[in-house]
Amino acid sequence: MSVIGRRTREILIVASKSSTSGMGKKHRAPRLIVVKQAEHLTKNMIRVTFAGDALKEFPVGREGGNCKIMLPADGQSLDEFSVQLERGPKPVTRTYTVRAFRQDSLELDIDFVAHGDNGPAARWAMSAAPGSFCGFAGPSMPKLSTFHADTYLLAADMSALPVASVTLETMPRDAKGVAVFEILSEEDRQEINAPPGIDIHWIVSPDPHRPSRLQEEFIRNMTWPAGSLQTCIAGESGVIRSLRGFLHNEKAVPRENTYISGYWKIGLVEDEHQAEKRAESQ
Ligand SMILES: Cc1cc2nc3c(=O)[nH]c(=O)nc-3n(C[C@H](O)[C@H](O)[C@H](O)COP(=O)(O)OP(=O)(O)OC[C@H]3O[C@@H](n4cnc5c(N)ncnc54)[C@H](O)[C@@H]3O)c2cc1C
Repeated sequence: MSVIGRRTREILIVASKSSTSGMGKKHRAPRLIVVKQAEHLTKNMIRVTFAGDALKEFPVGREGGNCKIMLPADGQSLDEFSVQLERGPKPVTRTYTVRAFRQDSLELDIDFVAHGDNGPAARWAMSAAPGSFCGFAGPSMPKLSTFHADTYLLAADMSALPVASVTLETMPRDAKGVAVFEILSEEDRQEINAPPGIDIHWIVSPDPHRPSRLQEEFIRNMTWPAGSLQTCIAGESGVIRSLRGFLHNEKAVPRENTYISGYWKIGLVEDEHQAEKRAESQ
């Protein structure tokens, strides 16, 4: 093993230890994960593949669950960052989705929207290369794991394409329904292994910072399905707020059948957006 490899392994062991909170609940310390490959999946989506021993014991079946990505400061070394992960202060942290985990090769895929260099996570992904590193906490359980509806409705912008894609890949092959995906350009269409009964519509909307009503218009105008409905809907918070009102108030879709979540908000960095969501839920 090279010196760097050995050093990395030592750091990973330190960074993977569990800690116990004051409440007696065990938290896994963040993993320090290293990039194997980063490539454009589509024009504005970067797939970052992490690999290595830090992914040993990574739970299987968590595709579609969310995770926290902790970002090193510009120019920070792996050694410095591993110490920071262990001792603080907490690095800049953003929320992402587990797109795929391959246990046999210990590889983890996360898809990052390359929305510009004003976001630390997008900027990190845009310059990620083999050997780049970040912290990882989680993952949570998948957002949708039981499928029991007559019809499925999926709607996503590019930030939520990972959770929507996992949901489409996981649902029964005879599932029926509609998916409406808003992407930044024609070149952001992705191949998704969806059940043949799911009708996928792609809408191009090049400016994510202008509030868009295209998905809602599409959903309002479609023939409303009879029977029970389950949803997987996520994206920009303003779009989601309006869609949530439509589904619950106008269509009376039971809340337990709707996964619907604001993933980011125009004009707010993630911490501000999360704080706003917490305040609203209280
Ligand atoms: C449960 C969950 C799962 C998520 N999964 C994913 C995922 O798998 N892939 C993914 O790419 N994103 C995902 N997101 C969204 C991601 O957390 C946010 O986009 C986050 O703000 C990105 O951080 P940043 O550092 O790039 O930008 P920030 O520093 O948070 O924001 C900087 C600026 O960029 C704007 N901005 C943020 N996100 C976008 C965007 N998508 N498009 C255009 N402008 C934006 C903000 O409004 C702000 O003005 C998820 C969010 C949640 C809550």
